[in-house]
Amino acid sequence: MTDPALGKWLHDLVADLLPPMRSITGDGVRATLRTVARALGETDGAPGSELTVHEVPSGTPVLDWTVPREWNVASARLVGPDGKTVVDAATNPLHLLGYSTPMRARVSLAELRPHLFSMPDRPDWVPYRTSYYNENWGFCLTDRQLSTLPDGKYEVEIDTTFTEGSLTYGEIVLPGETDDEFLITTHTCHPAMANDNCSGIAAATLLARDLAAVPRRHTFRLLFIPGTIGSITWLARNRESVGRIRHGLVLTGLGDGSDPTYKRSRRGDAAVDRAAAVALAQSDRPYRIVDFSPYGYDERQFCSPGFDLPVGRFGRGQHGEYPQYHTSADDLDFVTPGSLADSYTLLRRIIAICEQDRTWRNTAPYGEPQLGRRGLYRAIGATMNRQAVEMALLWVLNLADGTRSLLDIAERSGLPFDTIAEAAQALAGVELLAEVPGEAFGKIEVGGV
Ligand code: ZN
Repeated sequence: MTDPALGKWLHDLVADLLPPMRSITGDGVRATLRTVARALGETDGAPGSELTVHEVPSGTPVLDWTVPREWNVASARLVGPDGKTVVDAATNPLHLLGYSTPMRARVSLAELRPHLFSMPDRPDWVPYRTSYYNENWGFCLTDRQLSTLPDGKYEVEIDTTFTEGSLTYGEIVLPGETDDEFLITTHTCHPAMANDNCSGIAAATLLARDLAAVPRRHTFRLLFIPGTIGSITWLARNRESVGRIRHGLVLTGLGDGSDPTYKRSRRGDAAVDRAAAVALAQSDRPYRIVDFSPYGYDERQFCSPGFDLPVGRFGRGQHGEYPQYHTSADDLDFVTPGSLADSYTLLRRIIAICEQDRTWRNTAPYGEPQLGRRGLYRAIGATMNRQAVEMALLWVLNLADGTRSLLDIAERSGLPFDTIAEAAQALAGVELLAEVPGEAFGKIEVGGV
């Protein structure tokens, strides 16, 4: 797809994903996964791109946590003294406090106030509030509306249910040539916000579609999981196999106008950290790379010390740093097709580098081999200048000693990764390089359990 078509495809999917009453459990998550499945099915239906929906029963112990009761919303409305609706979750899911307990009551404005949430500094925005682990009920509304509420009796009509149901998450596995895994995850628990989290769901969906259609060295595993409890649940259920994860990316906030931002894994020097740094540095535009911190999204769980997986986070604006964060202003205008397409293109680039990275050994390491007589310059990049190609050949021949991967060589030489990869391919074609099996990505890192 061209960038405009790509951006429109992603933006349209964000719009489709926006409406359901999403939370960490419940029918909103299932509706979201149906939209994802539809978006996958609308394409060529490449084998392996099917979404598996997992249901994990409430009460299941998961690491130090327990899968909570399932929450669903039939309706939620606040009616004023004049009999008119003040707010209704049917018009905007953000109006209901997430995980609100059911409540039927006739209350005064003074009794109601502790249950109303607004943003005095942003009087036209509705805040996003949840109360997952403390029982509470409430409504969120604009401060402008709150300030005009008259005294009198209000009808609280919150029809929510908590049941011994399940936690729902989606998983797509695209087998590759090897069992080495590339994990891609995105959260699915935020209602009615376009950047956080519909942009991540849309990008992960398109990745599943696109990766299903191409040859893959890694096995790709894509997770659509509720934040925190979802990654904890997945890790608890897959504890024995996480050692296969060689690279991972948490996708969040890919559609706003901030610069692309990569957050390193806890390790800080995992191959995915280095691939992201190379991809961003060579993208010839402003970007940010930030260090790991034990705060943010599901990288907190994947990078907890017992797992310490090579999982970074890719997105643009970070949680809390843009004013629209966790408000009704995180809408379809805040997220643009241009930013979505740009993020997606960079994401593919990071993945492509991890896919192409290899470790080679120079088969003629004593003195420089004669390059001219082997026709190497004709074998690579008619579009590349001869000097860059020659430098790439020399760097690869010098550093390909069986311990350094192409990523190492790209970093040390400062040459574009693609040029290095092409040079290696050409040298392998004339048997000046032999691949070192099982030594892709330099040192193999295995996540502890
Ligand atoms: Zn959030």
